[in-house]
Amino acid sequence: MFNLILFGPPGSGKGTQSEKLIEKYGLIHLSTGNLLREEIANQTKLGLEAKNFMDHGQLVPDEVVIGMIRSALEHNPKAKGFLFDGFPRTVAQAKALDDLLAEKNAAIRIVLALEVGQEELVQRLLHRGKTSGRSDDTKEEVIRARIIEYENKTAPVAGYYEQFGKVVHVKGVGGIDEIFRSLCQQIEARQTVQ
Ligand code: ADP
Repeated sequence: MFNLILFGPPGSGKGTQSEKLIEKYGLIHLSTGNLLREEIANQTKLGLEAKNFMDHGQLVPDEVVIGMIRSALEHNPKAKGFLFDGFPRTVAQAKALDDLLAEKNAAIRIVLALEVGQEELVQRLLHRGKTSGRSDDTKEEVIRARIIEYENKTAPVAGYYEQFGKVVHVKGVGGIDEIFRSLCQQIEARQTVQ
């Protein structure tokens, strides 16, 4: 299995690049943000609980998202690999993911970390908010809260994977195709060892 994490702050282009990467490499896309928004759209109990956190720019509790990922892994037993997008967002989530993959004799091969400056992120998200229909993209204070949450709780996840030499930093500013090419180069450099 080839499992990768697309890592980076809100607005760094994870969703856009994920779509292109899963198509090229035949991976299954697991975005906890998308899974949570589906729960909200279906008005499930989990969705209603998560919405409160999301509307305030806060992370949803670890056990909720870990449970969603566990069930997504169980539903795709034949996958040739997964692309994790927006997960793990805390070190506890990263450790839980390692355990879940170890049960399948698998592991994370590479963490691709998109680098984008803070003001660029805010501008991109405000722009996206005009058309995305996402309430968490329309208010600047919620966007800034998400970035602070990222700095405090999610940035340390890169440190966690650095100790295993799995993190590659990629410039997330420039054309979409140019960034995509840089990501592909890094993947292909690691794909040889199956
Ligand atoms: P973005 O990266 O643009 O902020 P996402 O769609 O990844 O968007 O996430 C939207 C919101 O969903 C987050 O602000 C957070 O509240 C919640 N969320 C998504 N993934 C996780 C996760 N792995 N752990 C905790 N909360 C999450």
